[in-house]
Amino acid sequence: MLKKFCKQCGKETEHKEVIKQKPSKYGKSRKEQFKAFLSGFFGGVASPVGASLDLIDRYVVCTKCGNKKLENLGDEFQ
Ligand SMILES: [Zn+2]
Repeated sequence: MLKKFCKQCGKETEHKEVIKQKPSKYGKSRKEQFKAFLSGFFGGVASPVGASLDLIDRYVVCTKCGNKKLENLGDEFQ
């Protein structure tokens, strides 16, 4: 379990980590293109599961309210 701040709960709660494989490389939305840019930028960084960062989405899910947050880029990225 991970202790993280949940915006929905407004406090630090227990989170579990969920890793999903992306169905296709990148979508067409601006957000997806931004992610594509970032994953290229951070392409040399190994992920915790050893898979390429641009092939997986890493989420943390609040165990109190179920709020799911994409967390591919670590704690600093909101
Ligand atoms: Zn929550």
